Amino acid sequence: MLLTDIKNFLLENNYPSFRYKQIEKNYNSGRYNNFLEMSDLPKDLREILNEKFPYISVVEDKFQSELGTKKALLKLSDGLEIETVLMDYDQWITACLSTQVGCSLNCQFCATGKMGFKRNLTTEELLDQIRYWNIKIYPKYIGRIVFMGMGEPFLNYDNLLESLNHIDIGARKISISTAGIIPKIIEFANLKTQYNLAISLHSVFQKTREELMPITKTYNLDELIKACHYYANTTNRQLFFEYALIKNVNDSQKDLDAVINLLKSNKLFYLNIITLNPVKGSNLQPSDKLKLFETELTKKHINFSIRRSFGQKIDAACGQLAYNTDIC
Ligand code: SF4
Repeated sequence: MLLTDIKNFLLENNYPSFRYKQIEKNYNSGRYNNFLEMSDLPKDLREILNEKFPYISVVEDKFQSELGTKKALLKLSDGLEIETVLMDYDQWITACLSTQVGCSLNCQFCATGKMGFKRNLTTEELLDQIRYWNIKIYPKYIGRIVFMGMGEPFLNYDNLLESLNHIDIGARKISISTAGIIPKIIEFANLKTQYNLAISLHSVFQKTREELMPITKTYNLDELIKACHYYANTTNRQLFFEYALIKNVNDSQKDLDAVINLLKSNKLFYLNIITLNPVKGSNLQPSDKLKLFETELTKKHINFSIRRSFGQKIDAACGQLAYNTDIC
């Protein structure tokens, strides 16, 4: 259910406009599990809403927690399941949302890719992951959103954009990560929004990237980099490159030099180094060159940070989400 459905219903039935504002506030607060609990609304309206509109489209099937990281397996109305993650160890509580059930892109370091693609999530299912967490952690609330869970956000572009229109959090606190769907990067750049965009890069060489991320065969690296410059120059926003350090794959001096050259080519490029998280069924190993990369990148005055990785024990870290890890 989208709040616009309720808004239209209230308008059509001549309810005063403040009722919508009340409902919207209640709905996004995480305080209530259903409309009947909203005691600031007239009883008859609560009952009508309860009868007419399903409150939330996802149901918790399994919940796990490791220190500040929480992961939930959510069942959708057709019985398919997705994972969604909450990270509570920063200034802001961050929700990492899935955009698809499974993923067609089959990146070699990712558990979701090994599931194959089932379907896109609806706008409602995207938003209800936020609502689920707000209810779960009330009275705390989510301060940041990252679309970095299961699926490729730019292959569910319309629903993604629609969901962004409904999220009650500032655009600068919302990040979207793409494996490199070039036409959508251009389209997104042309919207000139304030959202953060991250590119899963992982290698600056076509051949290595193709092996890690088969999508590179369709959207090659040179064209991707051109699109990245276009995005940064059009939006004047920083563009984030995600780079998981993988032993003997992308951690050589040659890789490091190429990364430095790329980052120096645009002042708006920013590098996030991630240590690879182990995925069942993959031979890829985390690199031991993190310190070397850190020292060299610092020396060359590259804008970068090293992303801490949490939630490995519950398979909630980057690249580990899959609702049935037996298949990995
Ligand atoms: S890393 Fe992202 S795009 Fe690649 S297979 Fe996993 S979910 Fe899909």
